Amino acid sequence: MPGEVRGLVLGLLLLLVASGATLLQPWPVKIVIDSVIGKITPPALVQWFTALFQNSDSAGHSGIALLTLLCVGLLLIELIMGACHVFSSYVLNSVALRMVFKLRCALFDHVQRQSLAFHDAKAVGDSLYRITWDSYCIQAIFSEGLMPALTSGLTLLGIAVVMLKLDWHVTAAALAVAVPLIILVRRFDRPMTEQSLRVHEYESDVSTRVQETLVGIRAVQAFGREQFESDRFRSQASASLLASLRLTVLQTASQAIVGLVLAAGTAAVIWFSARGVLLGRLTAGDLVLLVAYVAMIFKPLETLAYTAAAVQNAAAGAHRVLTVLDSQPDVTDAPNAKNLSGRARGEIIFDSVSFGYQANQPVLRELSLTIAPGSTIALVGTSGAGKTTLASLIPRFYDPLKGGIKFDGCDLRDLTLKSLREQIALVTQDPILFCASIRENIAYGRPGATQEEIEAAARAAGAHEFIERLPEKYDARVAERGLTLSSGQRQRLAIARAFLKDAPVLILDEPTSALDAETEERLVQTLEKLMKGRTTIIIAHRLSTVRCADRIVVLQNGRIAESGPHAELLARDGLYARLHQLQFGEPPTATAEAAL
Ligand code: ADP
Ligand code: MG
Repeated sequence: MPGEVRGLVLGLLLLLVASGATLLQPWPVKIVIDSVIGKITPPALVQWFTALFQNSDSAGHSGIALLTLLCVGLLLIELIMGACHVFSSYVLNSVALRMVFKLRCALFDHVQRQSLAFHDAKAVGDSLYRITWDSYCIQAIFSEGLMPALTSGLTLLGIAVVMLKLDWHVTAAALAVAVPLIILVRRFDRPMTEQSLRVHEYESDVSTRVQETLVGIRAVQAFGREQFESDRFRSQASASLLASLRLTVLQTASQAIVGLVLAAGTAAVIWFSARGVLLGRLTAGDLVLLVAYVAMIFKPLETLAYTAAAVQNAAAGAHRVLTVLDSQPDVTDAPNAKNLSGRARGEIIFDSVSFGYQANQPVLRELSLTIAPGSTIALVGTSGAGKTTLASLIPRFYDPLKGGIKFDGCDLRDLTLKSLREQIALVTQDPILFCASIRENIAYGRPGATQEEIEAAARAAGAHEFIERLPEKYDARVAERGLTLSSGQRQRLAIARAFLKDAPVLILDEPTSALDAETEERLVQTLEKLMKGRTTIIIAHRLSTVRCADRIVVLQNGRIAESGPHAELLARDGLYARLHQLQFGEPPTATAEAAL
């Protein structure tokens, strides 16, 4: 990144000039006192300048010329200082903000690639806070750490050199203060870091709370839980408030104690330099210069003291960012993973697969299942039986703990994630729509699709009619989480998206669960079109949607309890027959069969 290095070098050079100008600041006043009012010859450089501006005939007014020059000099010094500060902070901040930008992008990419296991374990608000706010730690390290530390360090060094040339007593008095100051800073160091880390954590909790409540606002209002949510929010916000207050107390207390030490130092310096003037070792101008430098010397020391705290604060943010960047995605491409080329046949074989979200709570137990290419498998079972879990293993959202899954004869872990997921279209239980136009939502899985293709997919999914009725048609925007559309319409958009993707494997997770019987009936016809020629796994709670499947698999306790075609399972009079009877209220007799 040569651009950033160049920016850094330029910014630091400007800072150097600004520090030099700061050192020059009290000199004009010293010379005014010593040489304009007093009788001491001014420094050679000043004499030379005075001569330059002075006509030979006005020698009598050399005092006034010197005074004018010094006052102009005062202004010039201020101007140079100001300009250098403005430019250096612009240059350095732009470097820092560009780094924040890069860090944010890296964080976003990294978080997006984490497996679902990572996201299951993390609240969305927490990741949100880390990506949007903690990423500013880099800028803070620059603008509250590196820059002030460098300016202060340089100024301190310059002041110490000039002071030493004037009087070592005064210099010693000024430097003596530095020791207790450093001890103080160290003393306050650890509690302040810990406290600022705590504030960060509480703040992250607060944003998680807001996010969760707003996402679930329907449930909150429907169940009249506003008061409960308000109380919960209050208790978390007040935890954050208390932590911030405690941090403020720590900070101001340390500032007050530091201020006291600094005052002692100033008093000592005034005492020693005034005594120097009385003894004739220093001029009155020197006294003014030293007192001005003393006022200056403590400022950078103070800054350095708080720089430590600021850097610690930023370091807490950096720590939180780094833990994110350090977490390795647990579902990744194997080093020698190969690409699935062309259109897959879509054969899926589960070979005694065991899986659980926690190692000691198995959800699937040594489950084996062969899904022939192009066939339709229906997964049924009580809720919590593991249907969604089983389907999640196919696009490798999670890896099995034991056993393996073969796709067209190849273990999933030997394929690249991208090429595997290209072969799969997924309609989730709760359709996921984005804040974008309907067109973009349908084309989410195939961004290059033409309007004709999008429309064809929408027609096939039975969504075209209602889209055409919207004032903006395909350009109508879907609000966050699709709340402006009914569940049936959202479901249809999700199905249109799967149509458009035209993948050889189709996973439908309870695609009709949110619909009424009539809409469901129509949607089932649509789905049957979509399933043609594809390997389909359809999860259904309502058995009316699964009759057409080639094979019905009944899951129970993480195992396959029964499997076979509809009629065969009914005839067996087992679990499926019982479920069927519960739903349709009829014994599985031949008449019922005929009615189906
Ligand atoms: P189904 O789709 O058949 O209703 P799931 O596959 O969603 O069932 O869930 C199976 C079991 O796994 C349930 O006991 C559920 O509590 C648990 N489970 C599901 N998702 C997660 C998750 N992300 N983290 C931990 N446990 C989960
Ligand atoms: Mg489910």
